[in-house]
Amino acid sequence: MLLENKKALITGSSRGIGLGITKRYLEEGCEVWGLCTKDSPAKAETEAFAKEHGVAYHEIHANVAEVENLKLVIKDALKEAGGFDILVNNAGITRDGLSFRMKLEDWNSVLSINLTSAFIISQIISGDMIRKRAGSIINMASIVGLHGQGGQVNYAASKGGLIAYTKSLAKETGARGVRVNAIAPGFIETEMTAAVNEEAQKAWLETIPAKRAGKVEDVANTCVFLGSDLSTYITAQVIGVDGGMGA
Ligand code: NAP
Repeated sequence: MLLENKKALITGSSRGIGLGITKRYLEEGCEVWGLCTKDSPAKAETEAFAKEHGVAYHEIHANVAEVENLKLVIKDALKEAGGFDILVNNAGITRDGLSFRMKLEDWNSVLSINLTSAFIISQIISGDMIRKRAGSIINMASIVGLHGQGGQVNYAASKGGLIAYTKSLAKETGARGVRVNAIAPGFIETEMTAAVNEEAQKAWLETIPAKRAGKVEDVANTCVFLGSDLSTYITAQVIGVDGGMGA
């Protein structure tokens, strides 16, 4: 198993891509602390799935936009786990709209949940990883953070910022054994993309060389690779999981 005896903290573990990553990590022998806002409908099933694979799943709760509480929750999890080998900053939201009409509140909430939370959580977890001279941090960016997208200035800015943050943090921590990479998914089938209207979904599909939407497993498998010892010389990278869309 690729992640045997490792411990991971994964944000946004209740559904979509985060749930997919959580399940692949459990399958690979990793003990997972999954963070979401409240008791998730998937909690009992994920705990049972973990048990089947001989590991444990711990669901923890915080709104990542509430910084002081977030810090306490992450510190508690770190203490309980005794250190994490892998951190996946995956929690994210969209609040789409054209820039000239966008409310400051929608700009701020997207930046805070998609970008600032990764900084807050990584600051706590990477301190411990640096002391141990080992760790892998994976930030869930987006193809939109590389290329931009009309109607998503807040989301694109948050993901572009996350990419720059990833590369910069990797340069700070590389010599201390901590790798930091980003994944840039294209169009992946989850609740987030189900909210996109059918016409826009069709238009996106046209632009994908693979001619299909991505599955959460496509992203989860890349996360397994980046969390595992198969990727020990890979840091400061942005890996597209987009069926060729961003090429
Ligand atoms: P999703 O199905 O909407 O799931 C979002 C996850 O984030 C949920 O677990 C949710 O927890 C958590 N979350 C949201 N706001 C939170 C908050 N304030 N505090 C704590 N947790 C919060 O989204 P997804 O499609 O799986 O996307 C996951 C990540 O991939 C996001 O960062 C997204 O930007 C990125 N991404 C997705 C796509 C795509 O095509 N789907 C493409 C590119 C990038 P609750 O259930 O508790 O709300």
